[in-house]
Amino acid sequence: MQISFHGADRSVTGSCHRLECNDVQLLVDCGLYQGSRALAEDNAGDFGFDPARIDYVVLTHAHLDHCGRLPLLVKRGFRGEILATAATRDLARVVLSDSAHLQEEEAERSYTRSHGNREHAPPLYTMADAENALARFGRTLRYGERLEVCAGVGVTAYDAGHILGSASLYFELVEGARRRTVVLSGDLGTGGRPLLNDPVPPPHADVVVMETTYGDRLHRPLPQTLEEFYGAVSQTHARGGNVVIPTFALERAQELLYYLRLGVSGGALPASLTVFLDSPMAIIATEAFRAHPEAVSAPVAQMLARGDDPFALDGLHLARDGAASRAINAISGGAVIMAGSGMCTGGRVMHHLQHNLARDAASVIFVGYAAVGTPARRIIDGAKTLRLFGEEIPVRARVYTINGFSAHADRDELLAWHRAVAPGRTFLVHGDEDVMRKFAALLGTANVQMPAADQAYEL
Ligand code: ZN
Repeated sequence: MQISFHGADRSVTGSCHRLECNDVQLLVDCGLYQGSRALAEDNAGDFGFDPARIDYVVLTHAHLDHCGRLPLLVKRGFRGEILATAATRDLARVVLSDSAHLQEEEAERSYTRSHGNREHAPPLYTMADAENALARFGRTLRYGERLEVCAGVGVTAYDAGHILGSASLYFELVEGARRRTVVLSGDLGTGGRPLLNDPVPPPHADVVVMETTYGDRLHRPLPQTLEEFYGAVSQTHARGGNVVIPTFALERAQELLYYLRLGVSGGALPASLTVFLDSPMAIIATEAFRAHPEAVSAPVAQMLARGDDPFALDGLHLARDGAASRAINAISGGAVIMAGSGMCTGGRVMHHLQHNLARDAASVIFVGYAAVGTPARRIIDGAKTLRLFGEEIPVRARVYTINGFSAHADRDELLAWHRAVAPGRTFLVHGDEDVMRKFAALLGTANVQMPAADQAYEL
């Protein structure tokens, strides 16, 4: 009986952990590395185990850094079953299709750059690989219901409150006389958010593997964050400009829609507000909320049950196709435009920046993480110009950075969650190394490890 770590080791992406019990091999998550070029190259590297020998994959949630290497796993021989909650399965379909599409596009670009050498940079995986992975989804996990994965391996999912369908996993492993309970936190959400439940800690366990993304900081309170957000939107509206919000398609876009609706109905925002959701992926993710009342907070589930749409806004327009997206370019003021990607590394938001960055009356509101080196980070850091589509665009729009929206638990929430599970042994993953060290010191227990890549431990 052992556990080994094959991603998100002293870093925040590429989550992949392997459990072995009774000769059965089971992965928890199979995520993509995201970020710098070096990490991108890691995606094509060896898994650190034989994909053909893996019997099951259990997913904690549908973010790309937790499920994005599944098509590659299947391409390299995995023929087992993938288990997930129903909402995770639906979102994984959107996320993996989009990822395969981007991989194919990127390969096509490097094909062009290499003057016709197909061997030069094959896609990591194709749409067909993604379809093959999606075909391997099997049994459905339900919060609080134990599922017998196979003889000697039981799993129960607990709401992790991070994104729709997200789960912490509680494993009960039996091998001969040896019994171990192992919890994998997945990504943990922050409490008090309107759409989702607060994270539910699993029962006490012998071993815990937990994320530490924000293990060294506290979040700004939500009411202050909302006040900032409403202020930025209404000031721009009063100036007659457009608001561009580069946003991630899963969760953040739905959360903002909900807050915009609340702002308009409560009078914090003008009733005449026009809002564009310019992202097919965000539109589908919004529909997933309506389709999965079992995964949302009780108040939102009640709203859905009485036919009251939590995302309905009089002035809301959904831009599904390219033509609808381009039509927004003709609007010079008074609109809120939400589009991806969140870090402005591509996608439809680039056109909206091209049309609005040079306008004094406009504003760009950043509501999420912006990695160093991305256009989002350059704008936040005060760049005077930004090069877009071969053109140097002056940045005259007002730039707001609102940090209080987070899908991750903060330091105190992580500590409380750990106290609730009260493990004998703790493995820290999914965090930067210095953050992990600070968090480990706060746990006040000697048995804490920070595994390195491909390291294995007897359970
Ligand atoms: Zn996540």
